[in-house]
Amino acid sequence: MKEPIITVIGSINMDLVTSSDRIPDQGETIMGESFFNNPGGKGANQAVACARLGAQVNMLGCVGVDPFGQVLVDNLSKEKIITQNVEPVTDKHTGVATILIKDNDNRIIVTPGANYCVTPTYIQQYLDVIDQSDVVLLQLEIPLNTIEYVTDYCSDKGIPVILNPAPAQLLSASILENCTYLTPNETEKLEITSDVDTYKEKMIVTLGDKGVEYCSDGNLKTVTGYRVNPIDTTGAGDTFNGALAVQLSKGRKLKEAITFANAAAAFSIQKRGAQQGMPTMREVIDFME
Ligand code: ADP
Repeated sequence: MKEPIITVIGSINMDLVTSSDRIPDQGETIMGESFFNNPGGKGANQAVACARLGAQVNMLGCVGVDPFGQVLVDNLSKEKIITQNVEPVTDKHTGVATILIKDNDNRIIVTPGANYCVTPTYIQQYLDVIDQSDVVLLQLEIPLNTIEYVTDYCSDKGIPVILNPAPAQLLSASILENCTYLTPNETEKLEITSDVDTYKEKMIVTLGDKGVEYCSDGNLKTVTGYRVNPIDTTGAGDTFNGALAVQLSKGRKLKEAITFANAAAAFSIQKRGAQQGMPTMREVIDFME
């Protein structure tokens, strides 16, 4: 069978992760306990999830002309993701997420930098890439007018779009109507629209360890979460979305696709780091048995 083609349009960030025994007060400097940096950004994470599972992935996004940008593009290429259209922009830094960790409590500041250069004008150069896609996968770490543009374009062309509305913000009626599926978690679901009921048929709501809820022919269904020992749940949602996109791009039924994605996401949280734990197809199949 031919590999499904998925186009991921989204953020590419470097995560800068510092752990300390407490969070500094205003004006205070403290010594940290550990530091590491890790490739991240919801767009890049979801692209990696799709590629590990065997899809052909086109990444559309922007990075700065700086060392982080180069490292991040190399990281995506290493995963066999097509990065030739990822644009290095000279006047913005590569997106970064500054993450402070104390015990299990995270505080995160995402500074988008080059990710906000993913404009409709940038996208217009790559409509042929979108046209070839079995599924387009979007998140909300790029400008909202780009989400508006892409969902509108794909709806006209009949290309399925999965929108992972994270970080959550209020979405226009046209975005909500033009995307095929929305994949919020429980809190995001209430932040993207005041009219959840109208869009309930396209909502696939992730519930953390409780699994996933979705609607089919007007009936609410639940796919129960797997019992695993969670080491790091960062990127669980990204693995879920990547896996869902892969299954839907292969024409799998919704229930089957969600069941698979629920397993892939549970598998992924057994390792530290968002991308490190993302499974291959074989790993998910073995895990589900
Ligand atoms: P997000 O990470 O975007 O907030 P969730 O926390 O809902 O999203 O997690 C996404 C999916 O990852 C869940 O629907 C589930 O399939 C899986 N998952 C997350 N946390 C756990 C857990 N503790 N045990 C099992 N599966 C989990």
